[in-house]
Amino acid sequence: MDDSILVVKAVLGPLRSWAATQTHVLSAAEQSRTDRYRFDRDRSRFVVSRVVLRTVLGRYLSLDAGGIAFDDWCYRCSRHHAKP
Ligand SMILES: [Zn+2]
Repeated sequence: MDDSILVVKAVLGPLRSWAATQTHVLSAAEQSRTDRYRFDRDRSRFVVSRVVLRTVLGRYLSLDAGGIAFDDWCYRCSRHHAKP
């Protein structure tokens, strides 16, 4: 593996409807988090970001997007809320 870094910028608007059809790749925890968002804008932003992240990683790593596990455990406060 090389030391390159891939930066992906996802524009929310155009991806929103596509991402809504791909929620089957989200984990149970991500589905639960999606359901807890109060505002559509925040829910949609989370879904697009996770679906895009899983899709890009899945393609680069030749893995099923829904089979990727993220560790979001925060070692400072012992909760699940850190960046994956
Ligand atoms: Zn924390």
